[in-house]
Amino acid sequence: MTAEEKATPKNFIRQIIDQDQLSGKFGKKVHTRFPPEPNGYLHIGHAKSICLNFGIARDYGGLCNLRFDDTNPHKENVEFVEAIKDDVKWLGFDWGGRLFYASDYFEQLYAFAIELIKKNKAYVCDLSAEETRKYRGTLTEAGTESPWRNRSVEENLSLLAAMKAGEFEDGSRVLRAKIDMASPNMNMRDPTLYRIRHGVIHHQTGEEWCIYPMYDYTHPISDALEGVTHSLCTLEFEDHRPLYDWVLDNISVDCHPQQIEFSRLNLQYTVVSKRKLTLLVEQGVVDGWDDPRMPTIAGLRRRGYTPSSIREFSERIGITKSENSIEMGVLESCIREDLEQSAPRRLAVLNPLKVIIENYPEGKSEQLEAANHPKDDSMGSRRIPFSREIFIDQADFRESANKKYKRLVSGGEVRLRNAYVIKCESVIKNDKGEIIELRCSYDADTLGSNPVGRKVRGVIHWVSADHAVNAEVRLYDRLFSHPSPDTSKEEDFLDYINPDSLYIVADAMVEPSLLEASQTERFQFEREGYFSVERPASKNGDLVFNRIVTLRDSWAKIEKQS
Ligand code: ATP
Ligand code: MG
Repeated sequence: MTAEEKATPKNFIRQIIDQDQLSGKFGKKVHTRFPPEPNGYLHIGHAKSICLNFGIARDYGGLCNLRFDDTNPHKENVEFVEAIKDDVKWLGFDWGGRLFYASDYFEQLYAFAIELIKKNKAYVCDLSAEETRKYRGTLTEAGTESPWRNRSVEENLSLLAAMKAGEFEDGSRVLRAKIDMASPNMNMRDPTLYRIRHGVIHHQTGEEWCIYPMYDYTHPISDALEGVTHSLCTLEFEDHRPLYDWVLDNISVDCHPQQIEFSRLNLQYTVVSKRKLTLLVEQGVVDGWDDPRMPTIAGLRRRGYTPSSIREFSERIGITKSENSIEMGVLESCIREDLEQSAPRRLAVLNPLKVIIENYPEGKSEQLEAANHPKDDSMGSRRIPFSREIFIDQADFRESANKKYKRLVSGGEVRLRNAYVIKCESVIKNDKGEIIELRCSYDADTLGSNPVGRKVRGVIHWVSADHAVNAEVRLYDRLFSHPSPDTSKEEDFLDYINPDSLYIVADAMVEPSLLEASQTERFQFEREGYFSVERPASKNGDLVFNRIVTLRDSWAKIEKQS
């Protein structure tokens, strides 16, 4: 454990594990698992679970398995399996060869079903789905026992075998646990263990099976077969824990993991539900699972988030049992703090305004030295070309402004970052009265620093017009205009899509050193934010950048432009 981790108070799950270590429960072993269903890409909520499970295994010298919970074959596929593996690796975790599928255990799960029947703890039920619902009762009324509940062991065994052999249609029969139809916990009212599913091709087992085990039956058994000690899951499974324990108490298996629930991550202005994310993809609201606006790990990666920033985020939000919704600003400050230290600085002008420096010789250019990082000399420097014609950002010039405006005004002076002080001599406008060009002068004695006694309003960024490279820059805003679109009913969440979540700047001009940028690099464009290199470059071969995050917390609206 690092010193930093020791300093932070342990979350309640780690406290439980500490006690188990002291008491010798599980022989002091710690073994966790991350059990995604391969029916979509992983999202930031899954990252919380991954960091928790793999992080605990790492810190206690234990193991963490990656297990695909693949019992719902019609929604699952190999694309998702591969994407999930990539995402877990990218986040920096290693399952060390322990990659499993719940479907690896289909034979054993079936054998345990036979064991339950033989112990008179399970039966084949012929009620229709509709009838089953009626018999189930309500939260305030006990359920009614199925008329098929007291079939003989022999009949149940032969019916289950016939189900497996494909003799019955979908929905005609299920295998149920025989527990208690009057239990106050609805999950204990003879829950379904197996259902019939014909005509699906399972991505791992093909057409071998036409009966599939339910999650609540499969999960505890998979955990036990893998020797898991602590089965960490989200709060909605709290009411399923008695069933988890019932299954393991009633079959012949040595290991009985402890299920512990924690609250899921909810993030404001986005959704963290695979079902809803699937709709965004299917309806073309976004450009795929890895759209940089998506809260998926693939989307965050493409946007330019680093794995360490996401791990830091998981650490900061902590693990508790109380439901809450985390502000997007928390995630953003994690990447901002990371890139503030690690991202080289570059100059990029998003809305170019041409400036001609009249007293700078025509045809001349020079290479000025610019540090890659203001505080970290080890990041070195690069050369940026300077010439008579440059671009500055349109927002950095006003004909007149009060003293709070620290940029260029008519007749005023401003410092060009890493270069000279310039003075605005005149403004050129088109027929419509729009400013199209500035005429300036420069002071050759001001390279690098201000001569004594010289006051300059501010520093702005710029690029040399002759040398700059055209680039497309994609600016992102929140995907939803409602802080908790997740809580809205069903598909209504689509009504809250922010129509301005993507803003494309087609004609940005960036310094030429960015031509050499590789796809994995991230930069701070001075005064504009942190950017990643998008792949692939657009059709005309231009560079394309994604803004990862602004320089300040624009969400909190702390910065009002003067
Ligand atoms: P979704 O509702 O997005 O489909 P899920 O729980 O069905 O999520 P799984 O693939 O079953 O998705 O999840 C794998 C693991 O990740 C589970 O242990 C689950 O509890 C955990 N998990 C899923 N969503 C979150 C979340 N928002 N916060 C924390 N953990 C999560
Ligand atoms: Mg699930």
